[in-house]
Amino acid sequence: MKVKTVFEPTNNPGWRHAVVVGAGVGGLLAGRVLAGYFDRVTILERDAFPDDDAAGRKGVPQGRHLHSLATRGGEILERYFPGLDAELADAGCPALDQAWDTHTDTPAGRLPRFHSGIAMRAVSRSLLEERVRNRLEAEPGVRFLAGREVVGLVPDTTGGVVAGVCTRRRGPKEADETLAADLVVDASGQGSRAPRWLEELGYDAPEEEVVDARLGYATRWFRVPEDFSEDWKGLAVLPGWPDDTRGGTLRRVEGDVWTAVLIGLGGDYPPTRGDAFLEFARTLPSPAIYDAIKNAEPVSPVYGYRRTANRRRRYERARLPENFLVTGDAACSLNPSYGSGMTAAALSAEALEGCLHEQRLRSSKHDLAGLGRRFHKRQAAAVAPCWKVTTSTDRQWSASSVENFGLTGRLFHRVSEEVLALAVEREDVARTLLEVKNLLEPPSILLRPGILLPALRRTALSLLTEHKKPRSGQPEADVPMPSDLAISGERSAVWLIGLLCLLALLVGG
Ligand SMILES: Cc1cc2nc3c(=O)[nH]c(=O)nc-3n(C[C@H](O)[C@H](O)[C@H](O)COP(=O)(O)OP(=O)(O)OC[C@H]3O[C@@H](n4cnc5c(N)ncnc54)[C@H](O)[C@@H]3O)c2cc1C
Repeated sequence: MKVKTVFEPTNNPGWRHAVVVGAGVGGLLAGRVLAGYFDRVTILERDAFPDDDAAGRKGVPQGRHLHSLATRGGEILERYFPGLDAELADAGCPALDQAWDTHTDTPAGRLPRFHSGIAMRAVSRSLLEERVRNRLEAEPGVRFLAGREVVGLVPDTTGGVVAGVCTRRRGPKEADETLAADLVVDASGQGSRAPRWLEELGYDAPEEEVVDARLGYATRWFRVPEDFSEDWKGLAVLPGWPDDTRGGTLRRVEGDVWTAVLIGLGGDYPPTRGDAFLEFARTLPSPAIYDAIKNAEPVSPVYGYRRTANRRRRYERARLPENFLVTGDAACSLNPSYGSGMTAAALSAEALEGCLHEQRLRSSKHDLAGLGRRFHKRQAAAVAPCWKVTTSTDRQWSASSVENFGLTGRLFHRVSEEVLALAVEREDVARTLLEVKNLLEPPSILLRPGILLPALRRTALSLLTEHKKPRSGQPEADVPMPSDLAISGERSAVWLIGLLCLLALLVGG
């Protein structure tokens, strides 16, 4: 089904042709924004588009895995494609209130159940991508060229401006062609070759920052049992550093199926054999997911995935040719288990829109000079909260051992554990956590006194008593302090920080 949308009329500044590399969610959103400013937008995709099931699309192996659309991302998509949410609802995608419809088991216990209004449309990645692509395809001026791989950038005669791309037509009659463009946007995902293309033009590849929690995914789809009568639509079991390396998510999506994802961190990769998948589910810190799937009928094989490191390429610091932008996972790919990649791509699209709008006002000659520099800076700032949320926890898992994580980091971890424990007890804290997770609020909101002071107070108390909280459902038992705080050389520092926590205890009452 093709649905016509109407873009807001724009004062076209005379920009003629934009090329987007890659038709994933990042490329589609960039294409939507560019269509408001350029006469023509061409989206080049190396895959052929499947008619029905995009989950098998080679270029997006992640399509087989659960894709949570964070609330903020859903809102931005709806702004760019009005009516999309209703269309997904018509296609059978359930709406979820994230505090009511999903049971979340954390290392500190289950989060409270309440109507939060923090909504999510539970949709498979393939359906979402297909619907968005159909919307964009129906736009005048927008065309998709499938089966076209971009293999390099074409510079202008000065070498300082990108003037097009070199493409390779895939298939029996492979042929290279160039395509001229006023602007090239690389949205080719985490495997982007842009660093190499830049080096071929005589530029340095951008600096790269990697935080790898050594996380593995295993996903299997199940038919929702006919006699299923519980009133939840999703389950989440969170891992807990350093001992609980395992977790998972299960969610009902369109077609009355559950997508069950099991994760293992720190190299504890989940298996991809069916029986072993179930066994791994049984070992999760909460039995919720295992209980749901143990008798459910699988409707897919088990899919594995391990390229999950957080990776950002610092294009905002690089010297780049003009008229060349990099967006989506190609610029910043995030540990998928946090479910923020598509939202980061949506935030980048908003950054692009803002920059194009300003560029039109700024330049009397209506050229694109300086657009790349401004865009990469704005994009980096827009996705920084996503990066912060994912990497602050993943740094723990990326450390080779607890001791190597560093004292400040370990204390930060103790305080975050207490924030989680507070969220289990207090609806307002659970709501704030959900707002941060859904990119509705910045992570810094967790530092507000009503959360930070009690969390510090609890940290101080737990340091003093040297007891660790048991996971809910487990018998109360004295658990020794993690070895981190028992390292003798660091004790004095720990007590100093403990003293600060005590101060917080007194101030916070
Ligand atoms: C296992 C897994 C689970 C995930 N789960 C979630 C989730 O729950 N929630 C969430 O928000 N995000 C999730 N993500 C992240 C999400 O998939 C991406 O962040 C998001 O889709 C934006 O990606 P992108 O469009 O930039 O890149 P991609 O989705 O990778 O798309 C890139 C596209 O470019 C094409 N391409 C590549 N090279 C070329 C070339 N040279 N020429 C032409 N075309 C090319 C590819 O075929 C592909 O279609 C997950 C990712 C993984 C790996």
